[in-house]
Amino acid sequence: MKRLKIPFEIIVEITGRCRLVCEHCTSQRTPHVPLETVLGILDECASFGVKAIRITGGEPFLHPDIEKILNYAKDKKFMVLLNTAAENMSPSLLKNVVKNVDMLLVSLQGYSPRTNAAYTGSKSPYIDKLKNIFFLRSRLPSVVLATVITHDMTKSFAKFLPLVRKINPEAWTLLRPIDTMTDNIKRMDVAFYRALAVQIMKARQEKVNVFIANPIPMCITGDLRIGKQAFYGANLDDGHVRIVYSAEGYYKPSYFINTNLGNALKAAWAHPALKELDRTDYLPELCHQCPVLDTCRGGCRGMSLRAHGTPFSPDPLFDFASAQKALSKPYLNNPVR
Ligand code: SF4
Ligand code: SF4
Repeated sequence: MKRLKIPFEIIVEITGRCRLVCEHCTSQRTPHVPLETVLGILDECASFGVKAIRITGGEPFLHPDIEKILNYAKDKKFMVLLNTAAENMSPSLLKNVVKNVDMLLVSLQGYSPRTNAAYTGSKSPYIDKLKNIFFLRSRLPSVVLATVITHDMTKSFAKFLPLVRKINPEAWTLLRPIDTMTDNIKRMDVAFYRALAVQIMKARQEKVNVFIANPIPMCITGDLRIGKQAFYGANLDDGHVRIVYSAEGYYKPSYFINTNLGNALKAAWAHPALKELDRTDYLPELCHQCPVLDTCRGGCRGMSLRAHGTPFSPDPLFDFASAQKALSKPYLNNPVR
């Protein structure tokens, strides 16, 4: 697959610190990246021609220089994206975010104070988080909600919906947890994701823009038309179109593939490990006949790595019978999103 000359976006982890303790968190809790280092990365991205910068963590609001970083990113004329739990925001920080951020991605792990605290361990008032979300939703061009899927999501999905409708985000993105094959991950099998896809499709028909935003085999329901709406595909992950500057001080392909690509952007983007991750020749034969291979890329390399010890192996959710069924139906290459 042809690589972009310039990455679509650079994700900058400005800190590994966070107040929360989410179940599937991969943050190494590394200290804040010094301000000069962050600004140096932004300079390097600007001179390489990168248009979009995503500031993340850990929790980026814990960085003592977060406001300076957002000001600097905006001054450099980047499209500024920011990932946060939106807790404990001072009036000054709220104002700064409104001034500088183009797209805010807010994690939403509960539909009530109890469920939020149960997943994240948050000690902050849930109502304050919601107030921040509503305030920012009414002032920013784009607010997206992000919920890591839990093993009880097929039951809790409907409970999230009234709140999601009220917030009315640009999108509600569900994230497949990328983790070792724990019992909970094993419970989230093909049948689980099929059941979740049914609920996603129903909500989409009711005008809620919800989908699974990270890689998953798009044939899992046996119908690629559903796959194309309920699942975003793999393009944003696994180092295909964007990479991450890790709070540990080097570029890596994605949040979940920790290969050290060095600390210079141009060399990192040309690193042979990324070209390897673009390969598809090791995927099951059916993938090579698939009309959505370019979007799906056979699923998640991060999960293949955790399940089989190598990213160059089938996604553990790849299901031959579903793929065969999906590919036996006529498919019009007609992207919905
Ligand atoms: S908010 Fe993010 S960084 Fe913090 S614990 Fe949850 S997943 Fe980890
Ligand atoms: S056949 Fe392969 S490429 Fe096609 S949707 Fe399934 S996993 Fe993805």
